Amino acid sequence: MIIKKDIDTIQNYLFDASNFKSKQCKAVFIPENIAEISQLIIEANQNKIPVSISGAGTGLTGGRVPNHGDYVISLERFNHIISIDTDNLKCTVQAGVSLWQLEEILNQYGLFYPPDPTEKNCSIGGTIATNASGARSFKYGSTRNWIEAIKVVLPSGDVCVIKRSHISANDYTLTFPSKSKKIYQINLPNIKMPNVKNSSGYFIKRNMDLIDLFIGSEGTLGIIVEATLRLVQVPKDLISAVIFFENFDDLYDFVSSSRNQSNNEYSFIKPRALEFFDDKSLQLLSSKFPIAKSKKFAIWYEQEIYNEDIFIVLESLSNLVAGKKGDINNIWFAMDSKDLREIHEFRHSISALVNEYIAQKNLIKVGTDTAVLSEYFSEYYKYCRDKCLSNSIDFVGYGHIGNDHLHLNMLPENENSFKVALDLYRDFCELAVKFGGTVSAEHGIGKIKRDYFELMYTEDEIRRMFEIKKTLDPNLILNRGNIFSEKFYSQ
Ligand SMILES: Cc1cc2nc3c(=O)[nH]c(=O)nc-3n(C[C@H](O)[C@H](O)[C@H](O)COP(=O)(O)OP(=O)(O)OC[C@H]3O[C@@H](n4cnc5c(N)ncnc54)[C@H](O)[C@@H]3O)c2cc1C
Repeated sequence: MIIKKDIDTIQNYLFDASNFKSKQCKAVFIPENIAEISQLIIEANQNKIPVSISGAGTGLTGGRVPNHGDYVISLERFNHIISIDTDNLKCTVQAGVSLWQLEEILNQYGLFYPPDPTEKNCSIGGTIATNASGARSFKYGSTRNWIEAIKVVLPSGDVCVIKRSHISANDYTLTFPSKSKKIYQINLPNIKMPNVKNSSGYFIKRNMDLIDLFIGSEGTLGIIVEATLRLVQVPKDLISAVIFFENFDDLYDFVSSSRNQSNNEYSFIKPRALEFFDDKSLQLLSSKFPIAKSKKFAIWYEQEIYNEDIFIVLESLSNLVAGKKGDINNIWFAMDSKDLREIHEFRHSISALVNEYIAQKNLIKVGTDTAVLSEYFSEYYKYCRDKCLSNSIDFVGYGHIGNDHLHLNMLPENENSFKVALDLYRDFCELAVKFGGTVSAEHGIGKIKRDYFELMYTEDEIRRMFEIKKTLDPNLILNRGNIFSEKFYSQ
């Protein structure tokens, strides 16, 4: 196991892509096997030293960023693909394998793993910890849907293999054994989750599957060391197109129709991705992608072709675009793999450009990761947009509109406008909750969204969620500060 203590060598572990930073940690450990992690956790428990878990550091909520006196455990050496089962469409990987690495290998077998956060350098462990998702979540849902099994080192150092459909809660009580035969019992609170795509706090449901408690728990309940993932066959063909609209209402009308038609077995409209770009995003992107220049709003539409006739699907899509007043003469269609890569780059660039901007200004990212019920999305987007305009805060709006999930990133100029943006951000989170939604649909709460998480649940509900952590982690050493603010630790 490599151990780093020197301030220069630990620098890379003290921040993540949100630009949230720590000045110091006690040491960074880079274990090579599960026994080393268990041993480390047992020692940390004995000495009550908090432990932060580090994946690839692409997170956007400061989740992996250590507190001052923490040990950091980095999973970077857990980077092996253990097996690929082409017959049963499954693979087992170590937690530090990156999405890139996995995609490249699976491609050779004609397979793919549906969850696709835009940032491919993320680790599989990090995506499970945050229940990440991406453009394809419209068709395939978030990471949760694709996890068959995980191997976890619990905060006690015990190892536990959790397979989907093997252990379910009896009403609101979960009971499970670890490898050392210790029995754990967790009382789940009866809390209503929002009925939208969600990555805020623990997933809790009556009679729920044990595995779903760990997925999205942001490293507060255990260290994921391995995972078995479900896979899908690569389609025969793919339609990928950026479609422009003059105004937002027409665009959202197109989204609603596509959504409705995707549930209609007789329709050829079956998108896997419905991604949104507003005029501000297109302006930012136009320096790299001239086609976006002077366009107002756009949808990136993607659809898989298995056995359908691609020309009939294209005709249906064109008719739908024309019917919804889209710019039928200027659709940017991907004609070959180079175009496909370029359109993916177009989507990736917008988040990367925003992250570069905040890093240059040395600010923390102020961008919504909110989702709301469909009937409110239009009103929600317009409200956020108007508030930014009337407060002279520059912004770019984009996101997974198929799931009514908005990334409205504010681009404050300086510390003063940063404060205004923070006030607006709170306002946008409050409204998302009021509209039946969530403050985080995919990035998680981490350390920078805890105050907003408290808008979603009462203090008592959050305390009862925190009791789950206390049951598994009585010394409260693991990923301290994620999801729950300090007041819960001191009660
Ligand atoms: C340009 C850009 C675009 C992005 N686009 C998307 C997107 O479309 N969708 C999306 O969902 N996210 C997106 N993200 C956010 C990020 O990629 C995801 O949150 C990703 O899941 C983080 O993975 P990571 O390995 O980098 O985790 P880290 O940042 O290292 O950690 C994230 C959290 O997971 C915990 N963790 C990491 N590994 C483990 C483990 N093995 N066991 C337990 N806990 C662990 C950490 O402690 C931390 O709390 C984007 C980020 C960037 C920079």
